Amino acid sequence: MARYTGPVCRLCRREGMKLYLKGERCYTDKCAIARRSYPPGQHGQERRKISEYALRLREKQKARRIYGVLERQFRSYFERAERQKGVTGENLLRLLERRLDNVVYRLGFAASRAEARQLVRHGHFQVNGRKVNIPSYLVRPGDEIEVRERSKESAKFKEIADQAAHRTPPAWLEADAANLKGRVLALPTRDQIDVPVQEHLIVELYSK
Ligand code: SF4
Repeated sequence: MARYTGPVCRLCRREGMKLYLKGERCYTDKCAIARRSYPPGQHGQERRKISEYALRLREKQKARRIYGVLERQFRSYFERAERQKGVTGENLLRLLERRLDNVVYRLGFAASRAEARQLVRHGHFQVNGRKVNIPSYLVRPGDEIEVRERSKESAKFKEIADQAAHRTPPAWLEADAANLKGRVLALPTRDQIDVPVQEHLIVELYSK
């Protein structure tokens, strides 16, 4: 599946907030938001009135960028969320959270979702004992996610295990950093999804 390959910090500057797309760098003073917290481009520093449409569009773009999903796939998540019972906006965020790359990131096995995506793509993870290299794979309650035995021996994953030991996953996940594995305890509720997105604006955008 295709992915965005352009400049990453530009995306945060466009949304006017840190989206934490680069891992470690996001916590240093090298962060572009700390240096230039205005939108990119020639007219970035101009004051502009933001329309209702633009407000909703920005919210959708923000969600897309946080999870690293392109428009077509995001739209199909929305359509799936609409077909599910419950609140569409919450369903949408729940689907995005269930992506394997996001779960790997949430478990602390990658510094960013982009890194998690690459690790999954390179075949370092298995779900319920079977290799899965599809970042968009949707996990279910009860699923066991684990770094494959061969990969666990690498220096990279030894370092990841050390770092993961200091991170706390959300309540819907359980992590065993020392053994580089984790489990999905339940589907996440809205209050367990800490992304700065007002999902109702995305629903309004697509419902027009
Ligand atoms: Fe965004 Fe991280 Fe770049 Fe800062 S360093 S602008 S938070 S991606």
